[in-house]
Amino acid sequence: ALKVAIVGRPNVGKSTLFNRLVGKRLALVDDRPGVTRDRRYADGNIGDIDLTLIDTAGYEDVTDDSLESRMREQTEAALDDAELILFMMDAREGVTALDRIFADHLRRHETPVVLLANKSESRESGGGVGEAHGLGFGEPVAISAEHGEGMADLYAAIVKASRDIEVAEQEEAEKPIRVAIIGRPNAGKSTLINRLLGEDRLLTGPEAGITRDSISVDWTYEGRNIRLVDTAGMRRKARVQEKLEKLSVADTIRAITFAEVVVLVMDRENAFDTQDLQLADLVEREGRALIYVISKWDLEEEPQSRMASLKETADRMLPQLKGAPFVALSAHNGRGVERLMPAILKAHDTWSVKVKTRDLNDWLALAVQRHPPPAVDGRRIKPKYIAQTKARPPTFVMFANRASQMPEQYKRYLINSLRESFDLPGTPMRLTAKSGA
Ligand code: GDP
Repeated sequence: ALKVAIVGRPNVGKSTLFNRLVGKRLALVDDRPGVTRDRRYADGNIGDIDLTLIDTAGYEDVTDDSLESRMREQTEAALDDAELILFMMDAREGVTALDRIFADHLRRHETPVVLLANKSESRESGGGVGEAHGLGFGEPVAISAEHGEGMADLYAAIVKASRDIEVAEQEEAEKPIRVAIIGRPNAGKSTLINRLLGEDRLLTGPEAGITRDSISVDWTYEGRNIRLVDTAGMRRKARVQEKLEKLSVADTIRAITFAEVVVLVMDRENAFDTQDLQLADLVEREGRALIYVISKWDLEEEPQSRMASLKETADRMLPQLKGAPFVALSAHNGRGVERLMPAILKAHDTWSVKVKTRDLNDWLALAVQRHPPPAVDGRRIKPKYIAQTKARPPTFVMFANRASQMPEQYKRYLINSLRESFDLPGTPMRLTAKSGA
């Protein structure tokens, strides 16, 4: 069933549509008792499409908060779960300021939205559906939830949206994970790539092969498509040499912006010197997932203590990437190379993670309790609400009063705590604080 949430300001007719789509089967599933702000789910359908309707109406009953914050919670909670949002406005009243606030929240997410102009049974009264286009979700579908009008149009809109979703999911699943291997000249990139591509078992297991063209190499690993693009090691040997000498910053930057996962290769002898730190920092600022490869490990005489000291250096010099994975390997004898692909997949997963709004807010309450924000001019900054608005990299928006005065140090505390609580090692993260209810 398609998971659908109906959102909109109070009294636009959400419950009426909800009840209409659920029909007679008002049996609510997942109606866990004792959880006050629970979201509930109901089975419904429109025509031959099965729906799971997410009931967000409960959020309007909370009385101790502003209308705007209630709406925000309603929306964010729905966005957590829904595959499709039905965003409802009142055709008779036209677009209101609250509708615009809703639209702003919705546009920040990637979940598809169908805009409904409800109470359209008396079309002559249409107070301003014309402006609805300006909300950014196209022309509204005119319906009357109460009278059951416009249901065929709603059906058509949902069919179209669910097809789009399917296509997008399919494309997403097949889209290769883009990997770039960067590092200073002589770090061992070419040797590593040759080893990786030279030994199929490191890439694919027995079943699939690799395809190459001049600028990219594709393969599959554990059912995932991987694409390695535009790295020195993929060029013919003669050209590689020439390339290495003038490996430019521009090439590296291009590789990073292209990639989702960046593998930073560093020679064990001088890993994390100034240039490596700059490269890692660049990867972080571009918001890509990062893996540290320490190469030429066959030459390392004290692997254990050396690794401990490398990790210590990384955490100290690059705290914004705390916990980023390390793979120590030798492209010469192949040891450790088999750990690279699993690390790439894991880093990609972490980078793509979506944390539920409710879990985030449970965490926020605890984090603030454990370590309250400082007072500025005698008044406390008070974080109130947090939601993840984007993945890749994980991006969070927190609402707080006096948000603009929140010290960077406190934000860092929150980011580190997020990292630990939701197991997000090493991935770049973004947290912005906004003022608001
Ligand atoms: P790139 O410039 O980063 O592509 O570096 P290369 O792959 O060309 O390697 C630079 C030098 O390091 C070459 O002489 C390689 O033979 C050597 N090298 C690369 N990987 C290893 C390794 O795992 N162990 C050892 N001992 N030497 C390596």
